[in-house]
Amino acid sequence: MLVVMEHGATDAQVARVVAVIEEMGYQARPMPGAQRTSVGLVGNDGRIDGSSLEALDGVAEVIHVTKPYKQVSREWRQENTLVTIAPGVVFGGTEIPIIAGPCSVENEAQIVLAAQQVREAGGAALRGGAFKPRSSPYSFQGLGVKGLELLALARAETGLPIVTEALDEEGAHRVAEIADCIQIGARNMQNYALLRTIGKLGKPVLLKRGMAATITDLLMSAEYLLAEGNTQVILCERGIRSFDSATRNLFDLTAIPLVQKLSHLPIVGDPSHGTGLRDKVIPMGRAAIAAGADGLLVEMHPNPDRAMSDGGQSLFPEQLARLVREARAIAEAIGRSITPTPSAPAGTASATNG
Ligand code: PEP
Ligand code: MN
Repeated sequence: MLVVMEHGATDAQVARVVAVIEEMGYQARPMPGAQRTSVGLVGNDGRIDGSSLEALDGVAEVIHVTKPYKQVSREWRQENTLVTIAPGVVFGGTEIPIIAGPCSVENEAQIVLAAQQVREAGGAALRGGAFKPRSSPYSFQGLGVKGLELLALARAETGLPIVTEALDEEGAHRVAEIADCIQIGARNMQNYALLRTIGKLGKPVLLKRGMAATITDLLMSAEYLLAEGNTQVILCERGIRSFDSATRNLFDLTAIPLVQKLSHLPIVGDPSHGTGLRDKVIPMGRAAIAAGADGLLVEMHPNPDRAMSDGGQSLFPEQLARLVREARAIAEAIGRSITPTPSAPAGTASATNG
């Protein structure tokens, strides 16, 4: 339930609404907006009679949020939520950040070189898994904490913020210490205990759509994060299972405008897992931008043929540069732009190389 205040309602009137909601035993979330303030009532179990709130001074109307996801919905918040993972790297506005890097962190030389190549290509953030969810227990599982340390080193060298996955509750705390944005993978989208833990960590989150999840499932999972008080959530379309094995997944581009209609949260496209095929990543990355994506998540490896995971869908560095160039042209055609690469820390090789 959302209590919309009149334009010009006083702070005291807002405070009174908050107090009444709390007296009723629910949480109140005041949300100042460009036009007017709203106060969200969290935890409505269907027993609330809105008329007592409607009668309070300064209240314009009480809106019943009809969707099963509440705080995630556009009914709850009309304006886009902007998610900032580092200064100048913002999702949900007119600028579109491109996150790129290898599937996995493999060693220091690989991740530092990859980060430099992401910089040179025009990316805004570095991805790389330290904890890897692999379909086989015998596949490379990632370097773990060592991988996180190497990501921090790559950030210190290049100035690129880091997006990396947390697989479980214990690892989430370690990831939160280093990452600028915590990725929740497709396989964990409905791991509700993990969602609750990560929702409490106060870090931006990138939540990937499960491979058999509906749009409603995705938004319900995001609701777990917002219910814990974290509104800094980026959604990610990464392809869903289909009957057709011609591609690894079916990259559901319609999800992008659909989610933007239903929710105020930003949504990015991952054409790498979405297709699983290197030569399809550039066309589908372009298509995601054209469909209105608020960012891209792309796998790029300095030497894809030697990659320890997902080499076959990883771009060569020069292909990433081409994708960014082409994405710029498409973004411009729809009144947006690609986020510039953050500046490199002074004194690093990245700074010297421009
Ligand atoms: C990844 O980003 O490398 C990854 C494992 O993605 P997903 O969870 O979408 O499979
Ligand atoms: Mn991968």
